[in-house]
Amino acid sequence: MKRQRGHKALLSLTSEQARKLDDQGHAARTLWNLLHDWWVMAPKCRRSLAAADRAIRQARKEIAWLGVLPAQAAQQVLKQYHRAWVNCWEGRASAPNFKSRIRTRMAVDVPQGRDLQVKRLSRHWGQLCIPKIGLVRFRWTKALPVGKRADKLNRITGARLVKEAHGWHIVFRVQTEVPGSEPHTGALVGIDRGVVVPLALSDGTNREHGPWLTPGETDRLRRLEKAAARKRRHCTPGERNSSRLTRTYDQIARLRATATRRARDWQHQTTTDLADTFAVVGVEDLAITNMIKSARGTAEAPGKHVRQKATLNRAIAGEAWGRTVELLAYKLADRGGHLVKVPAPGTSLRCSACGFTTPGSRETQAGFVCKAASCGYEDNADTNAARNIKHAAGQAVSGLLSPRR
Ligand SMILES: [Zn+2]
Repeated sequence: MKRQRGHKALLSLTSEQARKLDDQGHAARTLWNLLHDWWVMAPKCRRSLAAADRAIRQARKEIAWLGVLPAQAAQQVLKQYHRAWVNCWEGRASAPNFKSRIRTRMAVDVPQGRDLQVKRLSRHWGQLCIPKIGLVRFRWTKALPVGKRADKLNRITGARLVKEAHGWHIVFRVQTEVPGSEPHTGALVGIDRGVVVPLALSDGTNREHGPWLTPGETDRLRRLEKAAARKRRHCTPGERNSSRLTRTYDQIARLRATATRRARDWQHQTTTDLADTFAVVGVEDLAITNMIKSARGTAEAPGKHVRQKATLNRAIAGEAWGRTVELLAYKLADRGGHLVKVPAPGTSLRCSACGFTTPGSRETQAGFVCKAASCGYEDNADTNAARNIKHAAGQAVSGLLSPRR
């Protein structure tokens, strides 16, 4: 079974190398813009991949600083530009446009994996060669198929360099050959994404985490945001931001990226643990974009509980539930398990012991008490919902596996 995965690592660059890579990123973006300019100006009959390729080669000859971008990365810009048009023609995306200097994420492609000459230096460090920049070290956090472990089926096929708040990263495209997995022998579990706890399991346990930023970091973030708002008042629209404001924005972006990185780390650890333990995981099939819609309403018909809803929205978005589900799905599939999405309505109101939804059953946010006369089941509200999800998932699975189908 062939498997394609991405793996991201932070590059340890000298300031000279970082500057050179910034130049490559800017050149790649400029090349895209030149290409777009040429494409929309050219008569329709002359628009072709070959003609665009000729235009790119000409531009690289005429504009000296475009030469900092390796030829293969330039070819990749052309491929992606053409791909963007194909996506547009086939109705998957809107038409490609110019890339602005401030809002575009800088990226440079290294389409051939063998050009990188990746090797492992020590337990925690690896080394690779970036075209036109030279040898660069990176944190080794995953077993990559390099050196003796690389062959036709197991190898790094290519990579992309991307600039984020913490600096330049490399995203490897890794291809591996894995044996088809044995069926998972673990149990069935239902998971509810709670508001009080991040993940509540039907076995009564929870998966929790602290805040992503320390109190000191949260204070600093608030101070920086206030400072940015103050500096913004002195800006003239249409003109470049002051360097102080830009620096403040960078500091804010770095703190937010730190929070995201810690959240991702927790998600990866938690989902790996869940996929190792359980064979079938049931989750609610939620449409998150609908859930986090603002409650503000219109001027004529203002919404109710706008502030509370906004707080809830931030909690939901901060939890990145969609990503947790995505990670769980592929990690379970790797181990021979299954993810089952079950319809959401009523899971928090129904009693998981008697199966009835009795009016007034859910008393508080944390506690569930069944009001049915003969039942009286009491449990944590999130656990009760998780148990309902488990029942629904169990029915869905037995429906799939029953001999009649
Ligand atoms: Zn009941």
